[in-house]
Amino acid sequence: MSAAASLADDNESVAAGPGLTGPGLSGPVLTDLVLARAELDRSAHLRADEAWLASAWAEPRTRVLVVEQGRALCDMGHDLARLVFVSPPQAPDGVRFLLGVDDDEVAFFGLAGPLAGPPRETVRPVPLREVGPLLSDRDAGLLTHAVALANWHETFTHCPRCGAVTDPISSGHARKCPVDGSEHFPRVDPAMIVLVTDSAGRCLLARNAMWPARRVSILAGFVEAGESAEQAVAREVHEESGVVVGAVRYLGSQPWPMPQSLMLGFRAEATGSTEITVDADEIAEAHWYSREELRLALAAQEILLPPPVSIAHRLIQSWYGEELPGVW
Ligand SMILES: [Zn+2]
Repeated sequence: MSAAASLADDNESVAAGPGLTGPGLSGPVLTDLVLARAELDRSAHLRADEAWLASAWAEPRTRVLVVEQGRALCDMGHDLARLVFVSPPQAPDGVRFLLGVDDDEVAFFGLAGPLAGPPRETVRPVPLREVGPLLSDRDAGLLTHAVALANWHETFTHCPRCGAVTDPISSGHARKCPVDGSEHFPRVDPAMIVLVTDSAGRCLLARNAMWPARRVSILAGFVEAGESAEQAVAREVHEESGVVVGAVRYLGSQPWPMPQSLMLGFRAEATGSTEITVDADEIAEAHWYSREELRLALAAQEILLPPPVSIAHRLIQSWYGEELPGVW
């Protein structure tokens, strides 16, 4: 079965389900997003069990994933890239966090600290964005989890109430102020990203003013305080393109810890005029594309789309109906 036929089958099952709010918004929900994969049980119930944590750290089979500035050591010399772990005695100093326990009772910890040694043979430090698509489900989940926590510990070191330096608790999944006892949890910023279509089925693609020529994507922006994700979709689309959207449908989410976002993916339909008026500060240009126009523009390399690691790529692909050529 072709990818397009497979998507069409999914359309039918989804079209009958709840959450579909407009006739042009049928389509499969997004599954297997690159950074939304995971295999390991996070074992949250063990995070406060100090005796268990101590015994796990003393266990030679325990695996430690060291993360520094969003990168981990990876062995790139295989079909699938592999994370390179160290044992607890080999681990550098740094904040450590329990990532989970596998089916063989092997504990996996993340650690925010310096990566060991210079690159050797096929092993080198690789950022999550680059290696994510090349990892197994287990390793993709481990690295995404570890990078998100390491980024948070690097930045949110002080109590927002009194300014004291806070201490990691719950095996690195929270921090506590030693002065006023307040507890603080990892910061995650929700951002929406939306594929907007018009009544003719065309898709809206835009170039951010800060991007190089030819790079385009769909519209995205942070959810503001006191705002729903759906409201953010309507607001951002109107601010950035002048287009008014009606029906909105949620399709899935993916963590994007670069440094701390959660991407919420939507489709939306333009209502009324499809005339585009870009917010020149943020958006350099925006245009509607039919599938055929997109195919020709990509073939001529007039535009480049975001890479498969991004939810943007998957949203565009879900509309296009097959593999997308020509990525950044
Ligand atoms: Zn405090």
